[in-house]
Amino acid sequence: MTKSTPAKIIYMDHSATTPTHPDVVKEMLPYFTEHFGNPSSLYRIARESKFAVSKARKQVADVLGCTPDEIFFTAGGTESDNWAIKGTAFANKDRGNHIITTKIEHHAVLHTCEYLEKEGFEVTYLPVNEYGIVDPDVLIKSITDRTILISVMMANNEIGTIQPIKEIGEIAREKNIYFHTDAVQAIGNLEIDVHEMNIDMLSLSAHKFYGPKGTGALYIRKGINIGSFIHGGSQENGHRAGTENLPGIIGLGYAIERATQNISEHNEKISSMRDRLLDGIIETIPDVHLNGHPKQRLSNNINISVRGTDGEALLLMLDMKGVCVSTGSACSSGEESASHVLSAISVPPALARGSVRLTLGNENTKEDIDYVLDVLPPIVSRLRALSPVNNYSQ
Ligand SMILES: *Cc1c(COP(=O)(O)O)cnc(C)c1O
Repeated sequence: MTKSTPAKIIYMDHSATTPTHPDVVKEMLPYFTEHFGNPSSLYRIARESKFAVSKARKQVADVLGCTPDEIFFTAGGTESDNWAIKGTAFANKDRGNHIITTKIEHHAVLHTCEYLEKEGFEVTYLPVNEYGIVDPDVLIKSITDRTILISVMMANNEIGTIQPIKEIGEIAREKNIYFHTDAVQAIGNLEIDVHEMNIDMLSLSAHKFYGPKGTGALYIRKGINIGSFIHGGSQENGHRAGTENLPGIIGLGYAIERATQNISEHNEKISSMRDRLLDGIIETIPDVHLNGHPKQRLSNNINISVRGTDGEALLLMLDMKGVCVSTGSACSSGEESASHVLSAISVPPALARGSVRLTLGNENTKEDIDYVLDVLPPIVSRLRALSPVNNYSQ
């Protein structure tokens, strides 16, 4: 090991992905080997596969408060978002062509809506306040008699802001408009009941709650008029063709059950570490701004702008110390455009530039927090000393 290789990796990017929990992997493994049967086949080993898929479907349904036949397995959050939005848009064209979403959605929603604009749909991208929260009154005002779908995410992946989903659902239900929510970041962190929250469609993704990548689900309330997304065989009750990702589905079912068993305990533990980290950063580094709502946010999320620094440089220097975080700026693509979420909450570009997101998870410890609090201040000082565009030259 060279001197510059850190002894330990401290992973603080759980909103990007989580490690698949070893217990989840253990549940999945037999479905690669002994229980490899195609759930559509008729002999015994295939029936076992089919039974296992049904069990996973019930595990998901129990968490959301719906029935198993309202759960459809997909290849992840992106596919679920695409299916919910395109599937209802095209199927309900005769009722109207207007869709309402927000400026801070994940690209899986935003780029899908932009695609639909090219197909003749009209899309309203709702603004959010300085904390990233949608105003229900603004939503009501944007509804027209041609609105067929409202899609608002439950919790934001960059700044962790939690939306008033129940209220938005009520508005949609009252106006007879379908309501989809991207709950990818919410599973395991927020209590969800699709009936109580008036949700018609909900997207989730296993790799965000210690399950495997490439597996997700879409809840579709019974009676929703939605087209099939992938055409072929009769899997997923004829709505999503293709031989099931058996190990993935088993992993998703087990992971969602695991992740939602003690949500309040989990949040208490994670938020106390998060607050210790955030308070420590603010105490030791001057001119740091928290992005998003101070309270109405995911328990594991810190998104800060460090004036006089560059997010990507912070990320790389933290990486050299073994700390994994992500940044809101997109310098890597060659453009220096700030994240659409930070723009939507009006973070000035000069400040948005120095943004990093730290998202904690189950494996993080108090020692990890102390380590980051040790290494981050000198990194910021170095970057500020180097920066030509400010007077942090001490
Ligand atoms: C990660 C994420 C997605 C995409 O899910 P994948 O399973 O990676 O395709 C969609 N929406 C949000 C809010 C996410 O955080």
